Amino acid sequence: MSTSKHQPLFLKYRPQKIADLIAQDSVKETLVNAIENNKIVNAYLLTGPRGSGKTSTARIIAKSLNCLNNGGEPTVNPCGECESCLGIINSSSVDVTEIDAASHGGVDDARELIEKVNMASITGKFRIYIIDEVHMLSTAAFNALLKVIEEPPAKVIFVLATTEEDKVPKTISSRCQNLKFKPITVNEASARLHYVAEREAINIDGDAIAMIAEHADGAMRDALGLLDQLSVFSKPDAPVNEARVLEILGLIPADELNAVTQSILKRDAENLLEQLNTLLAHGKDPIAITNELSEHLLGLLENISKASPAAKFTSLIELAKQEQVENFEIVQILDSLNSLSLAFKNTTQSKNVLKAWLIKVCHRADILVVKDLLGRIEKLESGKPVAKPQAAPHVQAAAPQAVKASAPSPAPAAGAPSPSPKPEVAKPSPAPSTSSSENFLDHLSPGSKGMYISSQARLVKVEGTIAQMQMPNKFKFLKAKLESRAAELLEAINKSSGGNVETINIEVVEAVTEAASNP
Ligand SMILES: [Zn+2]
Repeated sequence: MSTSKHQPLFLKYRPQKIADLIAQDSVKETLVNAIENNKIVNAYLLTGPRGSGKTSTARIIAKSLNCLNNGGEPTVNPCGECESCLGIINSSSVDVTEIDAASHGGVDDARELIEKVNMASITGKFRIYIIDEVHMLSTAAFNALLKVIEEPPAKVIFVLATTEEDKVPKTISSRCQNLKFKPITVNEASARLHYVAEREAINIDGDAIAMIAEHADGAMRDALGLLDQLSVFSKPDAPVNEARVLEILGLIPADELNAVTQSILKRDAENLLEQLNTLLAHGKDPIAITNELSEHLLGLLENISKASPAAKFTSLIELAKQEQVENFEIVQILDSLNSLSLAFKNTTQSKNVLKAWLIKVCHRADILVVKDLLGRIEKLESGKPVAKPQAAPHVQAAAPQAVKASAPSPAPAAGAPSPSPKPEVAKPSPAPSTSSSENFLDHLSPGSKGMYISSQARLVKVEGTIAQMQMPNKFKFLKAKLESRAAELLEAINKSSGGNVETINIEVVEAVTEAASNP
């Protein structure tokens, strides 16, 4: 089957059996156990970010169940050579049907197909239906699916995959075995890229690989796609380097981003416009500039509060101090960058829109107003008699104000001899699961992420439907702002923990509990 035609790396290095899966230990364990103990269920739901291996796994399941070289029994080591394995690899197997619910026509096809499922396997092997992006199915198709999943014909297996778990009806997901895929980390992606580069004799340096891994953002398929593109520049005497990666990606080099950020911090409109013109002249498009600037500012914001910030941000952090730029100011800039991205959708003049934005951001009129207001609030709180506090959000320190409905539940604090509930400042029990840590930040928009970070809020625990946050008293002026983003925070927390949180309590405290701040 192999020809001289170049086979894309992501296909060539696609995992072929369970053991090959990268970074998905719990998925692997579940599947190995199921196959070895003959505990195959009728429906699997594969959830997780794109590029994390869901579709490959669906095919691996199919091969493992139907390989002919194991005496007709499921195996964790499908041979990859028998008629059944090859049929699946080439997408020509009569026993395996793949449907992409997101594709044109997929929706109707899916319903029709599902309605016909009752015809059991013809060949005696497992009949496997793989439905990709299953959340896109129509209601009619979901109903048909529910019917077959509830009373599945013998040897019919559904493997459903989705990037948006929340959109799959509970009636379906509750009847499936859920396999949760994690995004592949930068280190895991780097290791794989090194391996592939070596096997393919691609000469590429470590920094370039790290950059690819970072850019791929958890999607191995994208990372290998990039490596593929870059491989043509590989020469035995000159490795592919970071500069080449930037070029291929159309990204702005870090020092240029730093220069732009410096001008923003210094409110230097003149320089800023000049830098912008240079970027545009080099063919960078306004949307890409905006996105990269956003990322960079977010990186700055995250590093400002770190004890040992990343080297590329140290000079900017210094400058921000010098220029007395406060964190929430950067948050507001980030926020307005977000609205700028939206504005691009409605204009053909994106270059001008971007220029106007830059001038505005250098003046920062609205931000200065808030700054002034804050100064006044602080004075007010120091006890000086002033008129009415205008924008001060009324918050009582150390008083969780949202629903306190939940009765003193018999919280089984793991091991700890749970003390009787104290009325004072809540001492959050050591968060029972690490999933209530800060992983949810990855699911927030840059603006909300920035707001969360700069308000120095902490998610201290998740209990049932309630997420408990704390924020230090000195940032309570940001509480209302943070609360206005509650919906997004909830969604992010639920996404990262798979939980079912409905309420966020933000408690203002003198000092945020440090114990729970890190997993
Ligand atoms: Zn086989």
